This record gives sequence, C-alpha cells and structure tokens, in this order.
Amino acid sequence: MSPSYELHSFHMNIGVGDGSLHILVDTAAKTKTGSCGTIQRTILIDSGKQKNGPVSCIESTMKKIMTDYDLPEGDGNLKLDAAIITHWDADHYKTLIFLLRKYKSDLETKKVQFLRYDKDGNPITVMYVPSWPSKMKKKDSEGPQQYLESELVEATGKTVMKVNPGGTESAHRGKWPAAFVLVEGTANLLGRDVLWNDDMDPFGWQQTIYSPQKLVAKVPPKFEGGPGVYCIAVNGVVLGQQRGVLNDVQVNCRSARKPPGVVDIVDGQSATKTGNPAYETNVVSICCMVIWKNSSSVRLSHFLGGDAVWNLEKIIMSWVGSERVAAMKISHHGSAGSTPLEMVDSFEPKTMVISSSTMYGHPSKTSPKRPPLRARTQL
Ligand SMILES: [Zn+2]
Repeated sequence: MSPSYELHSFHMNIGVGDGSLHILVDTAAKTKTGSCGTIQRTILIDSGKQKNGPVSCIESTMKKIMTDYDLPEGDGNLKLDAAIITHWDADHYKTLIFLLRKYKSDLETKKVQFLRYDKDGNPITVMYVPSWPSKMKKKDSEGPQQYLESELVEATGKTVMKVNPGGTESAHRGKWPAAFVLVEGTANLLGRDVLWNDDMDPFGWQQTIYSPQKLVAKVPPKFEGGPGVYCIAVNGVVLGQQRGVLNDVQVNCRSARKPPGVVDIVDGQSATKTGNPAYETNVVSICCMVIWKNSSSVRLSHFLGGDAVWNLEKIIMSWVGSERVAAMKISHHGSAGSTPLEMVDSFEPKTMVISSSTMYGHPSKTSPKRPPLRARTQL
C-alpha cells in the first residue's frame, strides 16, 4: 500500500510555557491492533519551565504515543529526531534541561531512551536554537550560554555545537556528556525543513523565497504527499526579507487603559519597544509553518510561532499571502504584543491553541484586542 502521511501534533499541558510534540506518521503502515500508523519522524518544540509536573507530562505524552502508534525500527522507544527551542525564555527551554538531568547516567552511557545516537554513540538528535540577547548573559546565570558548549565546529557552513545540560549551578557543575547536535544561525535555519536535518545551501538563497510556493519549490517536503515543517522566521528575520526587524522602531498603536469591564475592540500593536529585554528575547523566536505540496498548489496546516511579536508576524502574514492556515498556536501565550487579529482573519484557522497560565498574566485580559480572540477560542 502506498504511504499516506499525516502530521499529528500534541500540545502538552506543561503548566507555565509551551511544549508540543509533532510526529510525522504513515497512517497506511500499521502492524499492531488499533495503531494510528507508523511514526517516521518526531520533533519536540519547547518544553515548559518547571520541573516535576512538566517532566512527567512530556514523558507520559511520549508513553501514550508509544502505545498508540507503531514505532520505526529501533529499541522500541520513541526517539526525538529534533528538538526546537523557539527562544531563550525559561518557560520554553528549562524543562528540557530538567528532563536531561533526570537521565544523567543514561547520557553518560549514551543510552538516553528518547535520543538518537549513531553507531559510534555520538548524539545525532538535532537541536535547533535561535540566538540569545547579549543582555541575558549578564542577568541570567542559568541562561542558555551555560548549557551550550561550543567545542565544535564550523563545517559546511553550519555551526555545530554540543549541548551540556549541566550549566553552572553548583549541584550540576562539571563535565556532562553531549546530548544533541546543535544547529543555530539565521542562514542555517531559515528555510530549513526541521523534520530533516538535510544539508542545504545555507547562504543567500533565503532572500528570494518570498512565498510558501517558492519555498516548497526550493526545498520540497522529503516524502511525496508528506509535509515539511519549515523554519520561516528566526532571529527577527522572516524568509524572503533583506533585513530583520530588530532595529526597527516600534509604533505604539494601543489605546489608553480603560477601567475594568470596558473594552475597546481595537487591533493594535502593544507597547513593546526595541531595547525592552522581553521584546529582544521573544522577537528571535523560531517560527515554523507546516506546509504540504500538492502538485502545483500548497496547503498550510499549522503555524507555530513561539513567542513571536507583532511586527514580525505582520511580515509573516504577507509572506503567507492569501493562503489559509488550518491550525495555529497563538503566539506568546495570548500576550497583547503578539498575534495581530488580522493574522487570525487572514489565516482563518479551524483550530487555535493558547498555552497560558496565570504566572505572567497571559492571555492578556485588559488588552483591547483580546476580547474577540478570547471569544473565538472559547477560553
Ligand atoms: Zn513564553
């Protein structure tokens, strides 16, 4: 039977922050009773912030997937082919660090059950990360730079480093074994199908890719009839652009504050400004779009923008053009500075996901543009 591909997405309830698993499935290939199909590739996007609950949540989601699907050949465990940290806010990356620490002895023997290794025991699960603001290095002693060891290498234009989940906290100080192959850098990420870490020409061509159609013509999905999970923005740069948004002046279109219970339905950008550390951390978010190629047309099925911000998303909207997007994660947990309403109007998603908790006041209740969004998502 010829393969029939689907991408199944699991947005996990990991408390504060984002965490989702995405599996490419051949639904025509089933061996066990009740199977939903055979898994071809697995990606983790973000992980949450806290320790025990979110770690168990990720593990139990993986366990459920192992029960419900046929796994590819291997040791009978679900393996991550890639992990994406959309940006360096603790509510996106920290639980992954806790998860790795839990498996420290398995890391040392190169046998972490959910990671991939080559025949010599070198890690081959890829981690995709954006850059991080220089300010963060000073303010956060547990920041990402503590987890990345730049032991390697500039090879084929791709920056490859190792990830060390130890960091500098006293309890975890010391030498940790490598866990991932790290891929970062705007040119290395932009336009890449993150389902597959295939070699690609990393420089220059991205500026000519001004639409989803152009992208799948240049980087077609690996399997005929299957999707690609494409990085369409990172480090403040959207595919097809000559320059990023980080130095652009932000315009505050938000109306004045109103007393509780009074709402204006105004779709306007919030007051985030260049120079605001939160803005600079969020604007670098890796934004992914799931795109399918159907002979001469394309189909967009999922937008995953991390904590992307308004002005970046406006450019993404024009990149998407008149195409609809079947599902979207509302960016930055429903914050007032993300997901312009007109983006929802333009994408016309059938499904929207907001990962919110009460910790940062997300989703914004006072923001003038939230009421219609809240209504639409039936929060
Ligand atoms: Zn966040």
